[in-house]
Amino acid sequence: MTHTRITRFIFLGLLVAATAFSQSKAKKVKPGFNLFSKEQDVQMGAEYAAQVEREMPVVDNAELNKWIRTVGEKLAKAPEADKYPYSFKVVYDPSINAFALPGGPTFTHTGLILAADNEAQLAGVLAHEISHVALRHGTNQASKAQLLQLPAMLGGQMLGGKGGLTGMLAQLGIGLGANSLLLKFSRNAETDADILGSRIMHQAGYNPIEMARFFEKLEAESGKGNWITNMMSSHPNPGNRQKRIQQEIQLMGAKQYSGETGDFKRIQQVAKALPKMEKPKGATAAAAQGGTVEQARPQGGFKNFQTQGLQMQYPSNWEVFGQNTANVTIAPRAGLFQQQGGQTAIGYGVVINQVKSQSGDFAKDTQALIQQLSQGNQGMRVSGNPREQRVDNKRAYLTMLTSPSPWGGNEVDWLVTVEMQGGMTYFVFIAPENDLNNARGAFDQMIQSVRIGQ
Ligand SMILES: [Zn+2]
Repeated sequence: MTHTRITRFIFLGLLVAATAFSQSKAKKVKPGFNLFSKEQDVQMGAEYAAQVEREMPVVDNAELNKWIRTVGEKLAKAPEADKYPYSFKVVYDPSINAFALPGGPTFTHTGLILAADNEAQLAGVLAHEISHVALRHGTNQASKAQLLQLPAMLGGQMLGGKGGLTGMLAQLGIGLGANSLLLKFSRNAETDADILGSRIMHQAGYNPIEMARFFEKLEAESGKGNWITNMMSSHPNPGNRQKRIQQEIQLMGAKQYSGETGDFKRIQQVAKALPKMEKPKGATAAAAQGGTVEQARPQGGFKNFQTQGLQMQYPSNWEVFGQNTANVTIAPRAGLFQQQGGQTAIGYGVVINQVKSQSGDFAKDTQALIQQLSQGNQGMRVSGNPREQRVDNKRAYLTMLTSPSPWGGNEVDWLVTVEMQGGMTYFVFIAPENDLNNARGAFDQMIQSVRIGQ
């Protein structure tokens, strides 16, 4: 008996030692699977940055620009930032947010500058954004999205066509729009960006704990509805940010952090005193402002949509956006709403996409898609189990989802998944809940007209 007890004791001791050892080693944080080249990250970022400059009120204030560049470049010098061509600009927007495009262009909202308690908190957000760039999280997510045409598009001769890389990505539904794959991160990516961001802050002389404090402050305040923030939806809380970052600080060895410019209070005054800026005129004219439900509902007969591998009818007052089977939106202009941050919400229309099979099992793939859609769309709920049916004489499921409508109230989102070789085609038919009676006939006709395959 005694013998056994001693053995057990030693065994437990080893286990504890092993755990302590693994905690004392710094986590290796590096970019994941990626179909894009680093050069493509940079090219894409430059093209999107030009779009941001056209469509958003980018601030032209010498003092503010110089300061954000000084802080940003100090952080970007850290080896962990991986030498991307970073740039730092300010967007006039009262919401508390910042975003970095693949390859380095970084934009900070004036609302974020005003909401930070100190310079280190603002530097923390920049360091976190820089980390998403260096870890290539945007293109990693796009690579993992199983878009059928992406590998051929990136590797092939299609590059350099009209509209550039972003023009082609737009055909796959990748852009800066609502819930963009490029700007909305997983919890694992968040943890990695926190860790790398801590190291970058530490090197630049900012206390990394302020990054965690700021994110946690936003989290607490956004719950109370006190802040206009969408920072938390694109950077979801991975849990215990402070604790994880404290661990990281211990590993690096705490030091006297003395990187502050000391000008933060002054910069906040400058940001506060900026004259109100509207979106650039060109952007306002081009932006989808949304019309009335009456204008948007299907009417006036049907037109035929045909692209490689897909054919269907659609209401003649709707338009086709994108021509690629892998991702097309067919919607009335009156049903499109440009949102803050350049995102577009669809109030009426149909979104079509093709994805590769993840599990080899159509029913499981449908379930996984439902989960993915509900995670990616705030407020989306499943309101009924998938019902099996046939579309184009192929196995299909119809699933009823609901989510908030850009017109207010709820909308129905009919998800139709259709089995095809190696994957599926799916359609999301969108209509305001209280207008479904005016859409149902058109949706039925569209579904019946679907032809998939060569
Ligand atoms: Zn993040």
